[in-house]
Amino acid sequence: MDLLGNDYPYSTNALTGKHVLVCGASKGIGAATAKMMAKAGANVTVSARSHDALVSLCEELSELGSGEHKALVLDLEETASIKPTIQTLVEQRGPIHILVNNAGGPPGGPLLSNSVEDFEAPFKRHLHAAHTLVQSLAPAMEKIGYGRIIQIISTSVKEPIPNIGLSNTLRGAMASWAKSLSRELAPCITINNVLPGFTDTERLDSLAASIHERTGKSLDDVHEGWMSQVPIERLIDPLETASAITFLALPASGGIRGVSLAVDGGRLRSI
Ligand code: NAD
Repeated sequence: MDLLGNDYPYSTNALTGKHVLVCGASKGIGAATAKMMAKAGANVTVSARSHDALVSLCEELSELGSGEHKALVLDLEETASIKPTIQTLVEQRGPIHILVNNAGGPPGGPLLSNSVEDFEAPFKRHLHAAHTLVQSLAPAMEKIGYGRIIQIISTSVKEPIPNIGLSNTLRGAMASWAKSLSRELAPCITINNVLPGFTDTERLDSLAASIHERTGKSLDDVHEGWMSQVPIERLIDPLETASAITFLALPASGGIRGVSLAVDGGRLRSI
């Protein structure tokens, strides 16, 4: 599949004039989302901690679409810096129409081995950051009459996954937070979640390495174990996840609100 070429699924001006903020955009699903939104004509602000990775991503984005793109260095764990950074961004580039809440997942391992302190950083960079961003951006979204807020979380909100209990806990909190907001936000603002399954990014490589270290299983065995759970028998391409995220950002998706959409190759058994 050539999702940024011949098989690109949307019109190249589907998001023209829309300003998108993609968090956790330096690699993986975030970077793929930035690319697909740029291809749809959006002006994309890509945010993460690494300036160089974001600048080189912006160069790629410029070749994909007609929008203007910007690198924004922001550590989502530094909660107090989020509001002023976003205020400056909006002053420079105008209001944000589409917010993609995304950040690196928590480390794996049995939940009982986690200390209370282990919860702090992941909750800061996901829940606290997303809440601060929505509080900062929702009033202007309401004023301009358009808002799309999309969280990248995990299928574990429907079926907790063994040995990543900290992640399961966090994702459940994010899903409940988003569902609660779906009843509070202005009618022109939608909020939805995308739930990735086994997706071909560095996050999955690091989870495989931690299982190998803990259990001694070979990386091939870990991979085979994962694929045996997935009816499509392959990893998801991050651009496939990005395609679902972009769909939820479109004007035509304004009737979809408060849902969690799995992009997991059919791994979830629940309805
Ligand atoms: P990834 O680790 O490849 O990318 C995460 C991105 O977040 C990177 O750009 C990283 O720099 C950024 N980031 C991390 N900490 C940050 C911080 N403090 N401030 C700002 N940016 C920060 O992850 P991915 O595979 O693209 O996954 C995206 C999300 O989806 C993660 O939460 C992940 O746990 C979840 N997920 C992934 C999979 C998978 O198979 N890849 C499966 C289920 C859920």
